[in-house]
Amino acid sequence: MNWLEVFKEKGAFLEGHFLLSSGLHSPNYLQCALILQYPDLSEEIAKEIANKIPKDLKIDLVVGPALGGIIIAYELARALKVRGIFAEREEGKMKLRRGFTVKPGEKVMVCEDVVTTGGSALEVASLIKEYGGDVVAFSCIVDRSGGKPIFDKPLYSLIQLNLETYQPEECPLCKEGIPLVKPGSRNLK
Ligand SMILES: [Zn+2]
Repeated sequence: MNWLEVFKEKGAFLEGHFLLSSGLHSPNYLQCALILQYPDLSEEIAKEIANKIPKDLKIDLVVGPALGGIIIAYELARALKVRGIFAEREEGKMKLRRGFTVKPGEKVMVCEDVVTTGGSALEVASLIKEYGGDVVAFSCIVDRSGGKPIFDKPLYSLIQLNLETYQPEECPLCKEGIPLVKPGSRNLK
């Protein structure tokens, strides 16, 4: 399946001139939630990621950081027939709440929707290590890392995308006078 076309069709990948939450400008906007709202597509995405994971890599548990990682971690757990839980921030620190736990020695895959700098995934990985869990792999729907080595374990992704971003004062789209759009804002009226 040409996943980028599916993303475009569902409005999860937009082309134009966008103000990102980081404050940067970009010709593209990616919102995985808009593809994950379709359970059949979420399931299909998870199966495709799962198929890229070597069969001899033992995984007991998939952990995703809230909110972006919750659905895809759960679907990946379904595809792998293992447990799926999520970590969430409490007073700024990533934690396991709601009685979720990782047993010492459990083989864990960390799963995000989008990996750019990998910050949240790395926080989840160090949290799992505090529990004595063994982080064996990382996974995501969209890998935006540009091939930078972020993790000490393999990263399995559905697609890799290198998206351009610009500082507002250097943005060529601003210079062309293309109207800047804040994604999602039209839905807030
Ligand atoms: Zn701009």
